[in-house]
Amino acid sequence: MTETLEFTQQRSDRPKSAEERAAILANPGFGKHFTDHTAVVDYKVDADGSGGWSNARIEPYGPIMMDPAAAVLHYGQEIFEGLKAYQHDDGSVWTFRAEANAARLNTSARRLALPELPEETFIESLRQLVAADKAWVPTGDGEALYLRPFMIATEAFLGVRPAHEVSYRVIASPAGNYWGGELKPVSIWLSDRYSRAGEGGTGEAKCGGNYAASLAAQLEAEANGCQQVLFLDKFNDNAIEELGGMNVFFVFKDGSLVTPELNGHILHGVTRSSVIELAKDRGLDVQERKITIDEWRDGVAAGDITEAFACGTAAVITPIGELKADGWSIASPSAGSGEVAMSIRQELLGIQTGAVEDSRGWLT
Ligand code: PMP
Repeated sequence: MTETLEFTQQRSDRPKSAEERAAILANPGFGKHFTDHTAVVDYKVDADGSGGWSNARIEPYGPIMMDPAAAVLHYGQEIFEGLKAYQHDDGSVWTFRAEANAARLNTSARRLALPELPEETFIESLRQLVAADKAWVPTGDGEALYLRPFMIATEAFLGVRPAHEVSYRVIASPAGNYWGGELKPVSIWLSDRYSRAGEGGTGEAKCGGNYAASLAAQLEAEANGCQQVLFLDKFNDNAIEELGGMNVFFVFKDGSLVTPELNGHILHGVTRSSVIELAKDRGLDVQERKITIDEWRDGVAAGDITEAFACGTAAVITPIGELKADGWSIASPSAGSGEVAMSIRQELLGIQTGAVEDSRGWLT
């Protein structure tokens, strides 16, 4: 089934009032409020093995009716994506590198034995939902409409095998300025008790289970006064992998920019790949390679590492402050005001918000 699906429209007869919406948009926060509609596409495999995607629709936002035996509730057969839509000064709304999210959703789908969704259906689902809920796109500085596509196994069957019925959905949530206007370095806890991923595991997939497994480490971080967790590969010289929800970069005095290589354990961040491209165009020597926690510690101590920063859709780019571990720590190399990080951040935000020309065709 490769023909493009047409989305039918069922508009909410109980949308939030203009006053309620304005009150939410005045202080959206993150992930707390949702728009009036949702995009849905169903997938079914028939007994003869045929089947595919059908019934693409925009419908009112609301609870999902699901059988208690639905596979997702038992075996976690689920994947998701996250991206933002920005309103430009002329009132048009643009997603950033949505094709990359479509590709990553399908990488995750293959790993979780879920059906792949055609890229054009993914893009169309975003387009349709944003069109239905355009009034929900916030317009303040650093604000955007956060889009959350996800796919769940809905078949009512307790046997352990890939489900034959699946639902793809998109919900949208107005997102405020992640940093409340002020960019503060993120503090990091080094988890040496928990792993996020392992060889052959699901680290590269954006599946709910990875995040469920990171929560105990996140609690440990909070108990130690930190905001994010750094995960290492303990079986590979304590190579640095990523944070719970962001990729990491290190700026060296010699002009190189180093980020952990994509080894199958870490998420292929869309922001990560954008930073790499922008940095290469600036003439920086970008190295995707193994970097260990010892190289970080020694590099900061010797003054060879001048900046450390994290990146992801939610926070764009943010400097890394202190790294704390059990009994030791690594100070922030640049007291949190890295020049390279800030300059790339400005260019990236500029492209997303329409202030800088999109010469790479990253906006849809
Ligand atoms: N790593 C993890 C584990 C994440 O959850 C995210 C957020 N999606 C990222 C990295 C950054 O990815 P992106 O730049 O695509 O948001």
